[in-house]
Amino acid sequence: LKTIVSDIEIPCAFGPAYEGERVRGADLYAQCGGGKTQCTELVKMAEMNDIEDGKVIVDGPDVEDLKEGDTFPMGIYIQVAGREFQSDFEPILERQIHHLINYIQGIMHIGQRDISWVRISKAAIEKGFTLKDIGVVLHAKFHQDFGKILDKVQVTLKTKKADVDELTKRARAEYKMRDERVEKMTDEDVEVFYSCTLCQSFAPNHVCSVSPERTGLCGAYNWMDCKASYEINPTGPNQPIEKGECIDPVLGQWKGVNDFVYKASRGAVTHYNFYSMVTDPMTTCGCCECIAAMLPSCNGVMTVNRDYAGETPCGMKFTTLAGVMGGGASSPGFVGHSKFNITQKKFIKGDGGLARMVWMPKILKEEIKERLERFGKENGIDNFYDMIADETVGITEEEILPYLQEKGHPALSMDPLIG
Ligand code: SF4
Ligand code: ZN
Repeated sequence: LKTIVSDIEIPCAFGPAYEGERVRGADLYAQCGGGKTQCTELVKMAEMNDIEDGKVIVDGPDVEDLKEGDTFPMGIYIQVAGREFQSDFEPILERQIHHLINYIQGIMHIGQRDISWVRISKAAIEKGFTLKDIGVVLHAKFHQDFGKILDKVQVTLKTKKADVDELTKRARAEYKMRDERVEKMTDEDVEVFYSCTLCQSFAPNHVCSVSPERTGLCGAYNWMDCKASYEINPTGPNQPIEKGECIDPVLGQWKGVNDFVYKASRGAVTHYNFYSMVTDPMTTCGCCECIAAMLPSCNGVMTVNRDYAGETPCGMKFTTLAGVMGGGASSPGFVGHSKFNITQKKFIKGDGGLARMVWMPKILKEEIKERLERFGKENGIDNFYDMIADETVGITEEEILPYLQEKGHPALSMDPLIG
């Protein structure tokens, strides 16, 4: 017997109308994530008998234990069971958390995976909002939207730091496994890419095209995930795109993709390249994990991740870049991308590839260290990891250039970045 959920019983109004609403400083009561504390999301498949449908557990302090201005850590752990359910569907459900929490009036959600950010407004608190309501919403909407593939949903909201850290560790291992599922595939291997238009509610013209070698810029959807999403919901936000004739193999442009993007962006975007940030790059929405920018005096590029709050050599912090670039336009010289994409083989291949990378925040460099080192080895660049400058070297082009020269960074001897 399928559970039918018609009404969502929470004290706040709920619906797509509230999705774009912001919770600004003056309205803010409390928040978690966003670089202040850890906020992590994980959906996992469970055995039918191990979970109870509709159960929401708040494990740790709830909002009544917070005072105005407080921050708290949170782990959103959702267990799903169903005869039709497969672990391939986990990332798809997980990516819904973003818009579903945003549907609650007075609550704002940004990001995904282990870089989420939830802001709770004073107005929501006055109405009686508690963390349990997040679980109520996710349970109800998962049944409503994915009833075909699931029978039971149980939500645990963890707010004790040690538990959140433990969940985060486990979630990172899961993300890594999902990312690596496309590791051995190439864009040439497949005839079909997938679109993702999940973000059009925020960035109306934005269309992500997801290929094996270019995961979605939010980092949460790769080619396999989009394929699974299309199987679950053939009229949903992930549609197959026949690549069609290849217009430019180096920059990564296909006729079939252009035609699709033109339609899906309602004529706003006529074409874009998968493998270039300099020449007509893919469009960027506000969810991107990282934004790459050109550093002309270093003949190279930099990238900055959402979790780094400091200054960067392009003169803009992540938040400024996301504000300028995140509206769904193609902005030559800049592109949003996932962390995993940095070390995928086609990353900015049309601009010379990853060997162009001259600056990254230290935390990002460390996070993908193993993969950067592998890239160096495979491409005959000794010490590539060490050659990439970070904020400890400098945060302007003038500061990092001598370091790049001293290390003999390959970007300095490449063709000019801009022709
Ligand atoms: Fe989809 Fe792209 Fe939005 Fe990720 S960033 S949810 S891939 S549209
Ligand atoms: Zn987005």
